[in-house]
Amino acid sequence: MAGRPATTGGFEASSPLEAAQEQLRVASDYLGLDSGVRALLAQPRREVTVSVPLRHDDGHVSVFVGHRVQHNLDRGPAKGGVRFSPHVNLDEVRALAMWMTWKCALLNIPYGGAKGGVAVDPRQLSVPELERVTRRYTSELVGVIGPERDIPAPDIGTDEQTMAWMVDTISVDRGYTVPGAVTGKPISIGGSPGRSIATSLGVVQVALAALEDRGITPGQASAAVQGFGKVGRGAAILLAEAGVRVVAVSDQYGAIHNAAGLDIDAVATHVDLTGSVVDFPESDAIEGAQLLELKVDLLAPCAVEGVLSGANAHQVSAKIIVEGANGPTTPEADKILQDRGITIVPDILANAGGVVVSYFEWVQGNQAYWWTESEVETRLSRHMIGAWELVRAEARRTGRTFRETATCIAVDRVAEAHRVRGLYP
Ligand code: GLU
Repeated sequence: MAGRPATTGGFEASSPLEAAQEQLRVASDYLGLDSGVRALLAQPRREVTVSVPLRHDDGHVSVFVGHRVQHNLDRGPAKGGVRFSPHVNLDEVRALAMWMTWKCALLNIPYGGAKGGVAVDPRQLSVPELERVTRRYTSELVGVIGPERDIPAPDIGTDEQTMAWMVDTISVDRGYTVPGAVTGKPISIGGSPGRSIATSLGVVQVALAALEDRGITPGQASAAVQGFGKVGRGAAILLAEAGVRVVAVSDQYGAIHNAAGLDIDAVATHVDLTGSVVDFPESDAIEGAQLLELKVDLLAPCAVEGVLSGANAHQVSAKIIVEGANGPTTPEADKILQDRGITIVPDILANAGGVVVSYFEWVQGNQAYWWTESEVETRLSRHMIGAWELVRAEARRTGRTFRETATCIAVDRVAEAHRVRGLYP
């Protein structure tokens, strides 16, 4: 395995699926996988596309498209979130499902990978409409999801309430309550303490470890966080609590900046009152794109795919990028950033805290035995820091990037599971 596999110099992956395929190709080259295993891992195991008809509150009907993709089942049931967004399409769901396979394998939790989504803008629907969309989508999938088959969780545009409707729909269909069918549920129906903050906590744990690795203490560090939703908001709050100066945050409506550091708790209150970070008093308005180019120690993209591309990677001035989002960096940007000496902690490691605590929730639900929040946090930190240390040590040993290393470890584990199970028939 001498040398670095050829990168597709000049090639700009135009979709998350092309990016995921390219990352798999690089890892497969390093691992020397044969063409059959490559072909198997490059393609989802199972895909379901469904119509999701909705009777709106005023009586008219519209029909949305929903997907569930199970990328791989070799290491256990499929696992991954459900996204409600107008941008959802089958190729995006395929990419996100593949990344879930690698994430679960890297963190060594006993799952394959899946993802689902409905191409709908949840902000355009009333709560009863959202409930009907969620229940109809779930009911179309009852044959393929369940605690031993495929376990959904929240993602962009979905939350605890969505998960409560999903688990209720599955349970009504089966005639008994199935708490392990879905994770990210409200605590009152079997959610895990610590699940709602888990992704953010994991992001911050590896971010602080990556800063330390470059000799930067939290008190010296500045950070910019893109996205102020389920991941970015908690990450910004926890970074500030750790003593990091968070100088900029953003959401889909705009970005705000204060070189002296934003009062993140006050920003969170402002968002609760107004619905956006925009117009937060003690800050300057900046363009969302500018946030990605600020001269900070830490940049945490915690929103959507493809925000760091060939178009802006040369302008990125952060020392460390910690990927709270799935797939925020295209392969072309990855290469540029790496050549510029910027450390990237990849998504399948950085944002794995959510699925790790989903695993804890599933274990607790299946056993009907509940842990305390501090037990959850201790075990989460053991998983996150363990995976970080493994990736760091292996990257040092091989001279590969953190992303290449993390992907190689994950792909190798899945390929090994496939090898020992054998090909049927
Ligand atoms: N949607 C989250 C992710 O992308 C969580 C998935 C889960 O908990 O299954 O990792």
